Amino acid sequence: MSLIETRGAQMFPVLGAEQIATVMRFASCHERRFRPDEPVFDVGDHHAPVWVILDGAIEVVRRDGLGRENPITVHGSGQFTGEVSQLAGRGSLAAGKAGPEGCLAVPLDAAHLRALIIGSAELGETVMRALILRRVGLIEGGSAGSVLVGQIGESELVRLQGFLSRNGYPHTTIDAAGAGEGRAIVERLGLRIADLPLMICPVGTVLKRPSNAEAGVCLGMMPELDRSKIYDTVVVGAGPAGLATAVYAASEGLSVLVLDQRAFGGQAGASARIENYLGFPTGISGQALAGRAYNQAQKFGAEIAIPLAATQLDCRDREIKRLALTDGSSIQARTVVIAAGARYRRPIIDNLAEFEGNGISYWASPVEARLCEGEEVALVGGGNSAGQAVVFLAPKVKRLHLIIRRRDLEATMSRYLIERIAALPNVEIHPDSEVLSLDGTKETGLTGATFGNPANGVTHHRALRHLFLFIGAEPNTDWLQNCVGVDQAGFVKTGGALQEFAAASGDMPRTLETDRAGVFAIGDIRAGSTKRVAAAVGEGAAVVAQIHGYLADAARLRQA
Ligand SMILES: Cc1cc2nc3c(=O)[nH]c(=O)nc-3n(C[C@H](O)[C@H](O)[C@H](O)COP(=O)(O)OP(=O)(O)OC[C@H]3O[C@@H](n4cnc5c(N)ncnc54)[C@H](O)[C@@H]3O)c2cc1C
Repeated sequence: MSLIETRGAQMFPVLGAEQIATVMRFASCHERRFRPDEPVFDVGDHHAPVWVILDGAIEVVRRDGLGRENPITVHGSGQFTGEVSQLAGRGSLAAGKAGPEGCLAVPLDAAHLRALIIGSAELGETVMRALILRRVGLIEGGSAGSVLVGQIGESELVRLQGFLSRNGYPHTTIDAAGAGEGRAIVERLGLRIADLPLMICPVGTVLKRPSNAEAGVCLGMMPELDRSKIYDTVVVGAGPAGLATAVYAASEGLSVLVLDQRAFGGQAGASARIENYLGFPTGISGQALAGRAYNQAQKFGAEIAIPLAATQLDCRDREIKRLALTDGSSIQARTVVIAAGARYRRPIIDNLAEFEGNGISYWASPVEARLCEGEEVALVGGGNSAGQAVVFLAPKVKRLHLIIRRRDLEATMSRYLIERIAALPNVEIHPDSEVLSLDGTKETGLTGATFGNPANGVTHHRALRHLFLFIGAEPNTDWLQNCVGVDQAGFVKTGGALQEFAAASGDMPRTLETDRAGVFAIGDIRAGSTKRVAAAVGEGAAVVAQIHGYLADAARLRQA
């Protein structure tokens, strides 16, 4: 059953007279009459408002990059247009025109829509739920958003698929091999294999082998940032720590900008199922949890810029901090929250780089699971993230070799995961082992792996096309260039870890503040942090109280 069939009433609610009266109080301007068949909004339009229909109808269609169009619904009197793009004025993913009788409708632009959702709790819930479900419907329903054309399983195509999926953007993929539609598109446009993958954006623009940043621009993902603005806080990283900061800071009235180089959710977004996060007894996928937090932060008015990375933090000026960005511009803030998390550790194997994204993965999302369905695979790592990936992948593959350095999993993995793995008949654990060599070329991708422990005389060779690596992480601190103090492993020191700084300066840093006043560090990047989603979220909430304290102190100093 489709989402419309199961949750149609929640996706397309009809507002009552009282709710319409509330809408009229929050409307961004007067109602407008549209003539029969007059276009109301189009795919790709930025700042398209949500239209609440007072009389008549608006017919809404989905359309993908190839111009394939399908009806979504006809909104009648008391219903409203829009999906989550409208919360932040991002490019529209659907098109709408007035029905044959025309229509009378009242607009809610992004700011007024957010004011209504926050200001009117019950109506806000109805509207927010409908907007989220409609985005899910667009993703599930196909023929909306971008069309990717490429060779299935090729690393650049997998990267683009991952980028769009992780950011919640609908897309369809067409295989360029064989005699089908993909081949016809490639020939029609006179392209070479080297030009693939192709991304045909919802508005029809064709990009050859686009970077994530180019894809983001084409989709209208980036908000228009006011570069002269001084934000109360800029958060680097939209993982659980950064998103929690955004929710608490924005809901408490601070102006907040969040940057992320890739996608919202960070490492947690790559987790197939988080089972130990408070309040979700049946578990929740990392992407679903992150998607909720992302929408919640936008609801409160946090600006979120993805994909955009900080390349340098200039913290010489005590009062105003400057961040250099990958697009060549910079942004200013009174406080900075470093929530840049960690990146996957890579084992030292000569030809490893040749297979990254081409057989070797550092996470196991549904995209990777589809690619290795029914095959023999290997996974390296003995921690909880490795355990979760095993539990997720094993039912989908023929055989899974779990390669661990220790003799058993007891010291490194939670008991519930050890028990689940023990119950999986197709998982073979290889203790005291590591990957010794990899077979294949850039062209063939990974074709085999040798693993084991030569010292014990136990080595195995298996023909396999997929190797998953879950061997820990290193802090994402390259861009900080010694601006703040770090520990021996490179994690950012804060509060308690800065005793010597406190003694020398007489200035006591707050518990989450670095040795630069007004620069905070939270989540996995912080020295001594607990590497858990809940800990990252807790620090995201706690840091906001410390930001308030810092801003109040700074204001007092300015007046003194
Ligand atoms: C596969 C997997 C499964 C896991 N499962 C669980 C679990 O079940 N339960 C649990 O509690 N924990 C789990 N964890 C751990 C948990 O995900 C992390 O502790 C948590 O995500 C840390 O959050 P964070 O916000 O500090 O950092 P991250 O999640 O690492 O997010 C940091 C973000 O910063 C961005 N970034 C980095 N540098 C820059 C820059 N210069 N500019 C802009 N953006 C930047 C990154 O792109 C990233 O999105 C799991 C981790 C993994 C990898």
